[in-house]
Amino acid sequence: MLFDTHCHLDFDEFDGDRAAVWQSCRDSGVVKLMIPGVTPGNQWDRSGRLAEQEPGIYYSLGVHPCWLTPWHNTPVGQVMAGWSADIDRHLQSPQCRALGETGLDKRIETSLAVQVDWFEWHLTLAQQHRRPLILHCVHAHAELLALLKRNKPVAGGVVHAFNGSYDIAREYWSLGIYLGIGGTITYARANKTRNAVQRMPLEALVLETDAPDMPLQGRQGQRNSPVFLTDVATCLAQLHNQSLAVIAQQTYSNSCRLFGLTENHNR
Ligand SMILES: [Zn+2]
Repeated sequence: MLFDTHCHLDFDEFDGDRAAVWQSCRDSGVVKLMIPGVTPGNQWDRSGRLAEQEPGIYYSLGVHPCWLTPWHNTPVGQVMAGWSADIDRHLQSPQCRALGETGLDKRIETSLAVQVDWFEWHLTLAQQHRRPLILHCVHAHAELLALLKRNKPVAGGVVHAFNGSYDIAREYWSLGIYLGIGGTITYARANKTRNAVQRMPLEALVLETDAPDMPLQGRQGQRNSPVFLTDVATCLAQLHNQSLAVIAQQTYSNSCRLFGLTENHNR
């Protein structure tokens, strides 16, 4: 059994065949899936509905750093006060398991100062409600690690689409942050990440596709799908010189621990 810890199954790209995709996931052993929150309102509600309808699907509450453009000039507290009833309602849902995705991204126009404010908002809520954080980090590991060290997340979290060095990987893991392993490791040129993933203990790793983004090697230009999680697991098995069964069992159980779920695959 496999757990896709980061999949945007709610995105438009799946509107035509969402039910079929989820069915083929279950047929191929992908029995649990986490939909990360990216923007308040409809997106949270849509993922919440999906999670309610489909056993095995969970969601999180968050505002992605790449979706902050409408609020560059409004303090986060003021923006989120308008959503407080929604936040309370979602946090009461047993399918809403985490906060995020949040974090720092140096590729985007939004200033790092604004991104830090929004990250702090998520972290505060995560501490209050003892929920794990789903972290997004692009070219900003030093800055993000400094923030996490100053206020260590009580329920841990996961740094999704991990692509750093072994030293960075170890720093996250020492803070109780799992490493989200996705399609990156299927590319031979991703030496640094493949090396880090190879040296890290399996106890620190969870699997993800980030579908519809981040296609695997050989599928560039196509829509990524949670069905391909098996290929990420196979690649990790090769890197760790382990059987697929061992990789599946260990990462599945890590993911359940991360999101506070039982390992029963029906719920
Ligand atoms: Zn994402």
